[in-house]
Amino acid sequence: MDLTVEIDRHSGFCGGVIRAIGKAEEYLSSEGQDRLYSLGAIVHNEAELDRLGRQGLVTVGSDDLERLKPGSTLLIRAHGEPPETYRKADGKGLRLIDCTCPVVLKLQESIREAYLRLHENGRSGQLLIFGKIGHAEVLGLLGQVGGDALVVENDEMLESMIREGRIDFSEPLEIFSQTTKSPDGFAAICDRLRAHTDRLVIHNTICSQVATRHEKLSRFAGEHDLLLFVSGKASSNGKVLSQLCLKENPRTHVIGSPGEIRREWFREGDRVGICGATSTPKWLLEEVAEAVRNL
Ligand code: SF4
Repeated sequence: MDLTVEIDRHSGFCGGVIRAIGKAEEYLSSEGQDRLYSLGAIVHNEAELDRLGRQGLVTVGSDDLERLKPGSTLLIRAHGEPPETYRKADGKGLRLIDCTCPVVLKLQESIREAYLRLHENGRSGQLLIFGKIGHAEVLGLLGQVGGDALVVENDEMLESMIREGRIDFSEPLEIFSQTTKSPDGFAAICDRLRAHTDRLVIHNTICSQVATRHEKLSRFAGEHDLLLFVSGKASSNGKVLSQLCLKENPRTHVIGSPGEIRREWFREGDRVGICGATSTPKWLLEEVAEAVRNL
């Protein structure tokens, strides 16, 4: 088949994920270390997890912490964790490799400060987080403020919160975003809130690597006849970015591996673009490109 293939050079791991994987590999390649526990998947990509699993990385959940032997080494991934996790790990005598992304650490600090500011001298106010309910980064943020913040995932959820009177517009409001959310989605939520109050403080905490990727990816999607978006099913950033691609290019197919490619998707002469989420490894994009070239 006559196809041209281009990999989006801006796709692939973000800085936080590169740093966490680098630290895990460094630890596992040091002498006498063949086992490292990661609290939650270090990256939402099954193929990369398999590769790291072969080196000795074992993913565990918070319920498993009780069962780890004292002295075991536990990696905290880029998403960060609530203070409770550090207390638990300390109580169990675990050694930590803390890979919380510096951008997330800064966001945790900002939300703690906002909470104190809102409640200082007996005052009150509300905190909102634009993010995915149950996402590790969001749980880490909620942990900074004792769970006292509302999480809003999208417009519909915001509308029902407003209808149900769960947002008190007579009080000051401060809103933060999960680092990997869509800048357009955040702007829409802020606009909607601004229509109800002039006491809203907006903290645009979307990671700059994610925000610029949105613009570049939209352009890339429009420049190709067909897109293969490569992402793990659990990647929240993957869901946001693949939707963006689908909006720009209806011939977008979301796949997890080269084995999912279907010949019937392609037309003679197509310019095929290959891209992925902040959790998609470059080597997997290369494998997908190779599979398309072999069609
Ligand atoms: S998306 Fe940005 S904030 Fe989140 S882990 Fe990656 S680099 Fe850090």
